[in-house]
Formats: sequence, structure tokens, C-alpha cells
Amino acid sequence: MFFHPFAATCSLFLILSSCVESTEISIDKEEGAQITSSAETPTNIIFLIGDGMGTSQVSAAYFYGEEDAQPNFSRFPILGLINTTSGSDRITDSGAGATAFSIGQKSYNGAIGVDMQGEAVQTVNELLEDQGWQSGVISTSGITHATPASFYAHVAKRSQQYDIATSLVHSNISFFAGGGQKWFMNRPDSLNYLDSLTHYGFSVGTESLGSADHSKRVGYLLANDGLLAKHEGRDDFLPNATAEALEYFAQSDKPFFLMVEGSQIDWGGHENNGDYVIQEVLDFDKAIGVALDYAEKHGNTLVVVTADHETGGFSLSGDGKSMSGYGEISPTFSTGGHTATLIPVFAYGPGANYFGGVYENTAIFSKFFEALGQ
Ligand code: MG
Ligand code: ZN
Repeated sequence: MFFHPFAATCSLFLILSSCVESTEISIDKEEGAQITSSAETPTNIIFLIGDGMGTSQVSAAYFYGEEDAQPNFSRFPILGLINTTSGSDRITDSGAGATAFSIGQKSYNGAIGVDMQGEAVQTVNELLEDQGWQSGVISTSGITHATPASFYAHVAKRSQQYDIATSLVHSNISFFAGGGQKWFMNRPDSLNYLDSLTHYGFSVGTESLGSADHSKRVGYLLANDGLLAKHEGRDDFLPNATAEALEYFAQSDKPFFLMVEGSQIDWGGHENNGDYVIQEVLDFDKAIGVALDYAEKHGNTLVVVTADHETGGFSLSGDGKSMSGYGEISPTFSTGGHTATLIPVFAYGPGANYFGGVYENTAIFSKFFEALGQ
């Protein structure tokens, strides 16, 4: 069980007076004294995106996970729902979906970190980097794919992956892990971007997690493009990369913003492959567990889990139309594309309360800043 330090303070106070939220004055070298509500303001943010993960995908974790083990989704006290409609279409793509989170504005399908006019807008982590935060991105797709790219790149189209690789080299990201070597090594401009990454202070690992030098910025490019699918043999990359990033950030006193994407829930949906979806959701749930364990242990970390959209019109259907088919679940799909269904949001930790309710996907961005008291 997580022992909350303020709980003890409260119970002592209860003897003398009513329990009030504790506050403390912290002295920041640059900013001077700041009064912060230590019980309510997070120091760090871990933002996990299950690409293509609607409520049926979440539900799958409850029917296909380890027996007798509750999915980590059950550990969240606060739930919300978001409308993911984009600025151009009723049904969003992953570019506009992630960009809504990263810049707080609805943009057109395919947009990466730009508004409806194609103008670059600072992302949540870039704004926090300006305040001295560290930031990281992790995905099971190529690291230049639409979702992670929307946090560090500003390009008109998600297909500009060579340009997105250039953006990553010039970004302030401190830790990244995913696939996508081809966008850095087999480029039309013949440049070797692994050298560029090294030049900009990264220690780059191309074989396995744990191989990079943690005294530098850390980058892992572990596949030519997307990583293997879980059902085709991917190891525990996602939970392990999340754990390594948290270990990396814990080395310094700086706050951090970490985005972790379960990229391939979406790919299983596009393939209408129930086993693919289920294995990816279970893997994503493990990564959520790593984030929540960290947050429970440290008490200062806001964890938010959501998705950019649902993929496949996935449902946990019974076998047939009558009650005789209710004993078993046979996952079905209604489309090979995305859907407009509302998407769940799960929040834990200081500031989690802001994430309850039904709202637009763009509000995730503003809620991060509200949670931070900004
Ligand atoms: Mg994605
Ligand atoms: Zn998709």
C-alpha cells in the first residue's frame, strides 16, 4: 500500500483542528520564494497515450489479462471522457489527435505540432522545457511517427519523417526510445543522423535498452522503423523503456514530462486483428503499472492515460445474436479505420482532479497547466 506522507500529518492535525491541505514555501534559486500547494501540484508528469485505444480496448485488459490480477487501469481514482474530433474532420488521425494534446488546439488531420494555418505552436513539453523541465518520448512505432513527433516537431504533414528526424536532433528532448533508424541513417540527404545526435550530446543505443550512457542525453533507435508487434515477439520494451526513462530523470532534481505511447494498439485495429490489439493493450497496461509504481513511490507525479482516438470499431462481442452465445467473447471490428467514439482519460496523483468530466481533447493541454497552477 502507498503511504501518503500528508495522511499522517492530517491525522495528527485532526486532534487539534480540522484537516487542511498543507502548503509549503519552496525557495527556487532563479525564481525566489514560491508558495506551492505540495499536496496538489505535481513535480513531474507522465502522459501515456494508447494509440487507437477506446473503451473496448481498455475493457479487453479485464478479460484477457493475467487471471486474478486487476489491470493497472483499476488503480486510477479519476476518470474523464474526451471528444477527439479534429479541426478538419469528424474523425481524427493520430497527427491531429496528438497535436491537440501537445499544443492545445484542434488542427487538421495529418498536422504535426502546427495549427490550422500550418503555423508552429509550442508544445506542452517545449513550454515546460523553457521552465527548466526535462522531457522524453517513448513509442513502439518509429520515434518519428505521428504521435511522438507531435511533441517535438512542427511540420505540415506527418509523412515528412526525414524532417521530423531533423527536428528531433535539434529538439530539447532528453530521453527518447523507439524505432525508426531508417529516418536517421538512410536519408535522401546522405547525412548520418546518428552522428548528428551524438554531436548534440546524445548517447545513442541501436541494439538494446540499457546500453546508452546516462550521463548524456539518451536516445534509443531499436528497429529500422516500427518495433516488432507484441504477438510477433517484441519483449517488454515499453515497460522497460518507461522504467529506464524514470531512472534517467530521477538522476537530476529537474522536473520531467514523459510521453509514453502504446503505438500499435492502433495497428492491430487497422488490421482488424483481435489478438494483436489485446496483446498491445496488455503491454501498454504494464507500462502504466511502471508509471503508477513510480508515482506512488514518489508522491509528486501526475500520471494521465488516454488515447488519440479509437481504431477499428473494436468490440467485445458475444458469439452470435442469442444469449446462448454470451459465454464467450469473440472480438469484432466495424471498420479498418478510426472512429469518433469518445475516449476515456485516467488520472492519478497531484492535479488528477482536473481530468474528471467530459471535454474536448485539447483541454488535456490546458489541464496540465491548471494542474501545475499555471
Ligand atoms: Mg501513434
Ligand atoms: Zn491509426
